[in-house]
Amino acid sequence: MSNEVTTNANSATATYDAVIVGAGFAGMYMLHKMRGLGMTARVFDAAKGVGGTWYWNRYPGARCDVMSHDYSFSFDDELQQEWEWSEKYATQPEILRYANHVADRYELWPDMQFETRIASAAFDDDANRWSVLTDQGEVISAQHVVMATGTLSAAKEPDLPGCETFAGETYMTSKWPHEGVDFTGKTVGIIGTGSSAIQSIPIIAEQAAHLTVFQRTPNFSLPAGNCPTEVAFITDLKKRYPSYRQEAKESFFGVPVEVTEECALEAKQSERNAKYQAGWDTGSLVGVLGAYADLLFDKEANDTAAEFVREKVRATVNDPELAELLCPDDYPFGTKRPCLDTGYYETFNSEDVRLVDLRKTPLVSMDGAGISTTDEHFDFDVVVYATGFDAMTGAVTRVDISGVGGKKLVDEWVGGPQNYLGLCVAGFPNFYVVTGPGSPSVLSNMMVSIEQHVEWISDLMEYMRDNDKSTIDPTPDAQEEWVRHVAEAGDSTLYPLANSWYMGANVPGKPRVFLPYIGGCGPYRETCDEIAADGYRGFALA
Ligand SMILES: Cc1cc2nc3c(=O)[nH]c(=O)nc-3n(C[C@H](O)[C@H](O)[C@H](O)COP(=O)(O)OP(=O)(O)OC[C@H]3O[C@@H](n4cnc5c(N)ncnc54)[C@H](O)[C@@H]3O)c2cc1C
Repeated sequence: MSNEVTTNANSATATYDAVIVGAGFAGMYMLHKMRGLGMTARVFDAAKGVGGTWYWNRYPGARCDVMSHDYSFSFDDELQQEWEWSEKYATQPEILRYANHVADRYELWPDMQFETRIASAAFDDDANRWSVLTDQGEVISAQHVVMATGTLSAAKEPDLPGCETFAGETYMTSKWPHEGVDFTGKTVGIIGTGSSAIQSIPIIAEQAAHLTVFQRTPNFSLPAGNCPTEVAFITDLKKRYPSYRQEAKESFFGVPVEVTEECALEAKQSERNAKYQAGWDTGSLVGVLGAYADLLFDKEANDTAAEFVREKVRATVNDPELAELLCPDDYPFGTKRPCLDTGYYETFNSEDVRLVDLRKTPLVSMDGAGISTTDEHFDFDVVVYATGFDAMTGAVTRVDISGVGGKKLVDEWVGGPQNYLGLCVAGFPNFYVVTGPGSPSVLSNMMVSIEQHVEWISDLMEYMRDNDKSTIDPTPDAQEEWVRHVAEAGDSTLYPLANSWYMGANVPGKPRVFLPYIGGCGPYRETCDEIAADGYRGFALA
C-alpha cells in the first residue's frame, strides 16, 4: 500500500477497546498486539503515513545510529529473517520503507487514520471510559488510551525574534519537505549542533555555496564507520537471532555488548587509550562509553574518555582555535546524547564553512535578510532549524488530558513527570505512555524498549479482560516511590551535570528533572515482569 494515506474523518462517534495515538513503530506494534487479543483499536497520527520519526525527519543524512539489525523488530522471526538492511546504519528512506513494510505485512492500514491529531482525552468517571477528541471534531469512546506519541516528536518551533520576517527559505530538520531541498549555490545558515545537525551538516556543506553553523553547545561525535551490510555477518546473525535478541533484552542499553567491571582509573593511560581506540574503531555509540564501568559515574574517569575524544577532534580540525570551539568541555562525555557522524569535523576544514560560537556572540534576531548575533549580521538564502524537541514529555503534554475528577495531566506534571514504571499515571486509569519518562526509553535501543512496553501493556489488557477488571490505576504511593527511585538512579550518575534535553534544559521553563530511567533495559524489564507476576503490585484494579 501507499505510505501517503488520506483518510476522511468518520462522521459517527466510534467505540473501541483502545485509542492508540501515533503510527510510529510503537503505535503499529500496539495495534498488532491488540488485534492478536481480539480487541479493537484505532490508531491516529497527525502525519500522512506511518513511521513517526522516520516519516518526519527526512533531512539529508538522516539515519539511525543504533545498528540496523538491532534497530528492528524482533517479535516475528519471519519478519526479521525476510528483511534485508543494506547498510550498517540504515538511512531514513530505508527505515521508512521498513515501517511501511510492517504496516503492509500485518495489514494494519484499515485501523489507522492519518492527518488526524488527537486534541484531548478525558476520563469519564461514571462510564470508566476515555472520551477522545480529534482535531477533525470526531469523538471516540475507548476503554484504554495508549500514547505511542514518541519521545522525540514534539518539535521545538523557531522562536528567534523576527523569524517570521525572513524572506528566504526556512526548513526544520524535524519537518523536512518530502520532495527534498536543493542547496546548490545557496548561502545557508543552520541553527543547532545536535544529532540532526551533525548528520546533515556535511551533506548541506557539500552542496551549498557557503554554510554558517550556529553552535551554542558543542557535542561529542564519533565516526559511524558506516558501510554496506556484510553478507557473512548477517547470514550468521540470522541463524542465531533468538539468543542474540534475548541478550539485547537483558542488556543495559538494549544492544548486546560485552560488559566490563574494569574501572578507567585503575588502568594505565596507555591501556586506557588502547581500549578507547578499540571502542572508537567499532563506530558505535557504546564503543568508547562502554570501555569502562565507571565512565558514567566518576567525573575523573569520564575526563579520560572525554579527553580521548577531544584529541580526535583536535587531530581532525586543521585550525586549532576552531578545534577548541568544537570540543565540549563543560559536561561529561555521554551525558548529552553522543552522536555518530560521517565527516562532521572534517567539514569544518572547508573554507566555505564557518562556525559561529553563540556562547560568545548569542543570537539576537532575524530579519528579512538573515540572522543577527550580538556581533554581526549574516545574510542567507536558506535557514535550517535543527533546534530539537521538547523531549519525552512534550508530545504527551501537548494533548489536553484530564483524568479522574477532571484533573489535568499538565498540572500533575508541572514539577516534572509523575508516573509509575514510566508507563502509567496515578489518577489517569487505563492510560499508558510507551517509552515514557521514568523508563529506559531514550537511553536505550528504542526498538527493544518499544517492544517491551507494548508487550507489557498488551499482557495487562489481556489480564484485565480475563479477570473482569475495567480499570487499572497506579496507587499514589507506588508512583511516588518510583519517581523517587528514578531520581535517585539519575543522581548516582554524571547525567545531571549536563544541560541536556535528558534534563529538560533545552526548553525554557521546563523543570530540570532527569527524564529517563538509568536502571538499564534488562533490570527494568525484570522489575516490570515481577510487578505483573505479583498481580500488578502497586496498581489498583477495579
Ligand atoms: C532524527 C532521529 C533519529 C533517531 N535515531 C534513533 C536511533 O538510531 N536509535 C534509536 O533507538 N532511536 C532513535 N531515535 C528515537 C526514535 O524516535 C525512536 O527510535 C522511535 O522511532 C520512536 O518510535 P515511536 O513510535 O515511539 O514514536 P515516533 O516515531 O516519534 O512516532 C510518534 C508519532 O506520534 C504522532 N503524534 C504525536 N502526538 C500526536 C497527537 N496528539 N495526535 C496524533 N498523532 C500524534 C507523531 O506524528 C508521530 O508520527 C531517533 C529520533 C530522531 C528524531
